[in-house]
Amino acid sequence: MVSAQNWLAPLKTVGVLALQGDFEAHRSAVLRAVASSSDFPEVQVAEVRTAAQLAACDGLIIPGGESTTMLKLLEVENLMGPLRDFASCKPVYGSCAGAILLARDVMHPPQPSLGLLDIAVERNAYGRQADSRIAKITTEDGSGMQAVFIRAPIIRRVAGDVIVLADYEGNPVWVEQGRHMVTTFHPELSLSGDTRVHQRFLRKL
Ligand code: GLN
Repeated sequence: MVSAQNWLAPLKTVGVLALQGDFEAHRSAVLRAVASSSDFPEVQVAEVRTAAQLAACDGLIIPGGESTTMLKLLEVENLMGPLRDFASCKPVYGSCAGAILLARDVMHPPQPSLGLLDIAVERNAYGRQADSRIAKITTEDGSGMQAVFIRAPIIRRVAGDVIVLADYEGNPVWVEQGRHMVTTFHPELSLSGDTRVHQRFLRKL
């Protein structure tokens, strides 16, 4: 006779691409999001620098930083192919520079990207560093959220089945398409400790 057993939910691994940028802040934000609700199973956060580390993850966060530098490092480390393969079946979330890497089209100036979401982004679209800002954005449920924009891109076009989850000054700033998601702002740096963006990503795992 087989005795009853307690089956534990398998531990999920959230990878954070750690080639450049504010990857450490995303680790803390994921752990804060998990702690915010008893709905979430336990997760571990892993820094990703190699294809083997990526393959061990259930989802990946590409942090903010400098998209041109990240792109070069991805090419040097031969990670573009593994990243495309990963994204064909697992969720990827990009914030700011990460959003630029995930977009279909990049302008100002144009640069290659992964094209995981059907959006066009304009880099550094708010102006210089001094035009970086903390602003209240409007989420789809009508509530607000404080958002940190640092030399952020603006999403100039969304197409296909892209869903806009928040906007600011008439432009989308948080969107998703299928399993993938981007924000042009930095929820990992939220001064209010709002974890809604990371919570949404955790639900995709
Ligand atoms: N301006 C940067 C870029 O174009 C993005 C800035 C950020 O990630 N905070 O890559």
